Amino acid sequence: MSDYRSWGYTPPKKQKAIRLNWKDTRLDSDENCWLPYGNGRSYGDSCLNSQGRLIDCRSLNKFISFDKNKGILRCEAGVKFNEILDTIIPLGWFLPVTPGTKYVTMGGAVANDVHGKNHHQDGTIGRHILSFELVRSDGTRLLCSPTTNQDLFRATIGGLGLTGLITWVEIKLIPVKSSFLDVETVPFKGLREFLVLSNDSNARYQYSVAWLDCVADGKNFMRGLFMRGNHHSSQSPETTHKKKNNHLSVPINFPKWSINRRSIAAFNSFYYYANKRKAGKTAVQHYDSFFYPLDSIDHWNRIYGGQGFYQYQFVVPLEKLNIMEEILHKIVSSGLGSFLAVLKEFGNHESPGMLSFPRPGICLALDFSNRGAFTLDVLQELDQLVIAAGGAVYPAKDLRMSTQAFKSFFPQAKEFTRFIDPNFSSDFWKRVYG
Ligand SMILES: Cc1cc2nc3c(=O)[nH]c(=O)nc-3n(C[C@H](O)[C@H](O)[C@H](O)COP(=O)(O)OP(=O)(O)OC[C@H]3O[C@@H](n4cnc5c(N)ncnc54)[C@H](O)[C@@H]3O)c2cc1C
Repeated sequence: MSDYRSWGYTPPKKQKAIRLNWKDTRLDSDENCWLPYGNGRSYGDSCLNSQGRLIDCRSLNKFISFDKNKGILRCEAGVKFNEILDTIIPLGWFLPVTPGTKYVTMGGAVANDVHGKNHHQDGTIGRHILSFELVRSDGTRLLCSPTTNQDLFRATIGGLGLTGLITWVEIKLIPVKSSFLDVETVPFKGLREFLVLSNDSNARYQYSVAWLDCVADGKNFMRGLFMRGNHHSSQSPETTHKKKNNHLSVPINFPKWSINRRSIAAFNSFYYYANKRKAGKTAVQHYDSFFYPLDSIDHWNRIYGGQGFYQYQFVVPLEKLNIMEEILHKIVSSGLGSFLAVLKEFGNHESPGMLSFPRPGICLALDFSNRGAFTLDVLQELDQLVIAAGGAVYPAKDLRMSTQAFKSFFPQAKEFTRFIDPNFSSDFWKRVYG
């Protein structure tokens, strides 16, 4: 038994686990309910398996090959993105897609078909995966690619770890000239202004994302900051723009009373005005602070206290903007508040994964402190609005969606079940499809 958790920090159920290494990826105990565990950066229970056994993949941590002329990397599934970036950037390459933390494993990233700030141009990570090996519980080892075992390739990308164990992954990287990006910040108010900015930026900027104030109402309702950027085009701005090394840590869980509407509103106001000052200027920013601002604070999830928090991330089609506005009104009037509300327009690149979450539309991610039944009731009401809009909620962030909601968000789940390994499951899957 060990303390395996997910990032939302909700009270953990004890998890049994085994650790693997490269030479021994046979699943040879009499266990009949396995689930791979990457680095636990999923917020909910899709990486947990309290009724079975986790396969801790972090010791699958070797680089296998790297073609530095073509930018093709093959590594074991437990290698983390921070380790990859440290190796490839000095050689002029970058990850084609990265989520908002670099402490994810390659296997975990594939199993959630993660997206990043460049979804409008480059789609999800699955579009950049050339091949991987999948080990099934009967001992079969399968090479999967867009042309070999295609169905299992599609089912495993975004397949929530349910189709078997990925042991290694081959991925095509993108070329870069330095560790820096040129970034511009533009303030906006309201979803329509956000969409005008997004439209104007989609072709010219590889990366874009917005921060939204989900507490302010009245004249400040839906104020936000739109950030857009491209990789810096010259060889080495390192000499003039140094990476800031101010690493912080949250040593203990914050007390319950410290997170309330007032403290969240104060933080949001401070954040808005501090960053609004940057508007109109293009800043040269290190990739760490642009892609991974939260990684500079270790254990930031402790801010929400021992009771944990829920992240709610959903996407609705652009033509359902009225429902998106209704959702935002509901969030603001509920008083739940969120420090970290991130808004992004997804592009129309089809995700290769059968069960992938991203689809064209407008996507919002928020963190809500766990206030028990009240929080759950609000989230359930939000689910109903997302269902009405024909949208979806992201399983990687979820701890509570119902079977009815899941089936509405992922009607393709029935087809997907054909590819599940009969000896694999998760707490998430038992809840939504059990
Ligand atoms: C601060 C922060 C920001 C984030 N930003 C984003 C974002 O911008 N976009 C986004 O898409 N996500 C984002 N996420 C979510 C995160 O990227 C995903 O949950 C990711 O999949 C976590 O990877 P992990 O290695 O920690 O895997 P885990 O969370 O441990 O597992 C994730 C899933 O992968 C499966 N899995 C793990 N390893 C393997 C393997 N070897 N073989 C088969 N299945 C496997 C697990 O069973 C599980 O279903 C963010 C998370 C955090 C904490």
